[in-house]
Amino acid sequence: MTGVRKKGGWATEDWLQAIAAELEAASTTAAVEAVRVAWLGRRGRITEALRGLGALPVEARREAGQRLNRLREAAEAQIKARLQVLKAQEEAETLAAERLDMSWPGRRPPVGRLHPVTRVRRLVEDIFLRMGFAMVDGPEVESLWYNFEALNMPEHHPARDMQDSFFVNLPGMVLRTQTSPMQIRAMEAAGGRLPVRIIATGRVYRRDDDATHVPMFTQMEALVIDRGIGMADLKGTLLAMSRALFGPETAIRLRPSYFPFTEPSAEVDVTCAVCGGRGCRTCKDTGWLEILGAGMVHPVVLQNGGYDPEAVSGFAFGLGLERVAMIRYGFDDLRLLYQNDWRFLAQFGRGEDGM
Ligand SMILES: [Zn+2]
Repeated sequence: MTGVRKKGGWATEDWLQAIAAELEAASTTAAVEAVRVAWLGRRGRITEALRGLGALPVEARREAGQRLNRLREAAEAQIKARLQVLKAQEEAETLAAERLDMSWPGRRPPVGRLHPVTRVRRLVEDIFLRMGFAMVDGPEVESLWYNFEALNMPEHHPARDMQDSFFVNLPGMVLRTQTSPMQIRAMEAAGGRLPVRIIATGRVYRRDDDATHVPMFTQMEALVIDRGIGMADLKGTLLAMSRALFGPETAIRLRPSYFPFTEPSAEVDVTCAVCGGRGCRTCKDTGWLEILGAGMVHPVVLQNGGYDPEAVSGFAFGLGLERVAMIRYGFDDLRLLYQNDWRFLAQFGRGEDGM
């Protein structure tokens, strides 16, 4: 202990130096408080010394008491001064740490995008609305009559196997395998009036799952019925649509095919948008990509819709929008569209396609 008692009194100078040194070393307000407690607290050295005065002779007590009280006042003043310095420092540090740097770039929150199929859907619908088509909508849980029978596919018709169906727990109902039931529903709604000129976009369901098929996909159906409609009208409409979708140089070709609800029927190809028709991996070097099935509405279907096949004719086609998205945006696995991988979907930025 720094000389508690020198000859004739208390070593107040030594104590004051010791306190000064401890305060100098105290770098936080908490450390200063510890110094204060050590000297001036209830069991502090100065407090204890004051308490011990009573044991001194009267003369010495008076003189020592004055010295100790001066020492206490000096210590208190030093502590106060040190605290002021440290508080100012700590305040400055807090301010520096919490300072707002206005020059930092803002954090950009992720912004939602339109799904590629939604983009294509809006594009295609816009093309047909401008050509004077009306947009109609129908149920995804459909009756066997609308989904098959009215479309010239009676029970046991082999074409039903071409579209493996999802049946539901309701007698005579199925998840629609195509948007073609909308042909019958649109004819019924028109009630014999002419022309019928509609598109119907929506989800359809088939038991299929590979790189070019998913169990749920999006189809757009188009139907035109009027007097004197022929294959040339079909071809002209498809060419206009294809050029609006894939560019003004796009050509189309129709290959004979079979569908129960059209006669004649055709599969429709467009020139490959990737290579411009020269041949590449996407089109397997053919220069062509198949995009849809089409044909003249079968007389049985016209009859089932309430129209006289002797008096009117029409064309219809069904377009897979996922397939259009693959061709338009240039990717080769259709399943990517439904895996919700943000890294894939984020590539379809805002602004393109005028959306
Ligand atoms: Zn190609």
